Amino acid sequence: MEYKAVIPPVSGLVVQRPGTFVHGNATFVVHPGAEAWAPDSRFMDTLGGWAPPNTVIHLHPRSEIRACFAKDNPHQRFPKKPFPFRAWNAPHKGIRMFVDDTETPDSVKWGILHEVGHSFVTHMPGLNRLRKIPKPLNYATSDEAHASVPEEQFCNAFADYLAPRMGVAGAGYDRAWWRKRVEAYGYGAEEEREHSNPVLSLALAAGVMYLFRRQLFSAG
Ligand SMILES: [Zn+2]
Repeated sequence: MEYKAVIPPVSGLVVQRPGTFVHGNATFVVHPGAEAWAPDSRFMDTLGGWAPPNTVIHLHPRSEIRACFAKDNPHQRFPKKPFPFRAWNAPHKGIRMFVDDTETPDSVKWGILHEVGHSFVTHMPGLNRLRKIPKPLNYATSDEAHASVPEEQFCNAFADYLAPRMGVAGAGYDRAWWRKRVEAYGYGAEEEREHSNPVLSLALAAGVMYLFRRQLFSAG
């Protein structure tokens, strides 16, 4: 893909409403419920000036994560782990970032920069060699496995480098930063209870008892 920088359009709007906002190479789609986390138009203009062409960034309230996952990954099941991820960059489908109070406007900007970093890895000769390094199987859901992947380390460094140059206060809004917030809000635990299946637990217990009794019989 040809990389082309464009001159950002002049825009003084403060975006605090849902809608589609085209800024140079980048299109921001702010879905209802996510507007409080939407980046300001200056950030959008600057990003649209250097992002790869046709970069689409959706901002969703976190409540939409399962529906979006089913749409972008129709052949995969949503992970059981509570709060498995905060964003993704699906080839040809665009970037989706999910917001709730575990995110701040600055962490959202950082997350967008991280995801655009993945687009550069995909499109830039040389950098795309990072893609060929095998990823651990639990890459998508385990924080440790995720952090061990060279492409992720590059995208974190990419976001850390650009964030202060893009008006983001602070840096290092990576998964470890986010996980602490998820835990502080106690969200993970709640969702885990929701996933535990009483019927399956009973069936497992019955199975174990059956095996145990068989064992007794054969032993006797
Ligand atoms: Zn990433």
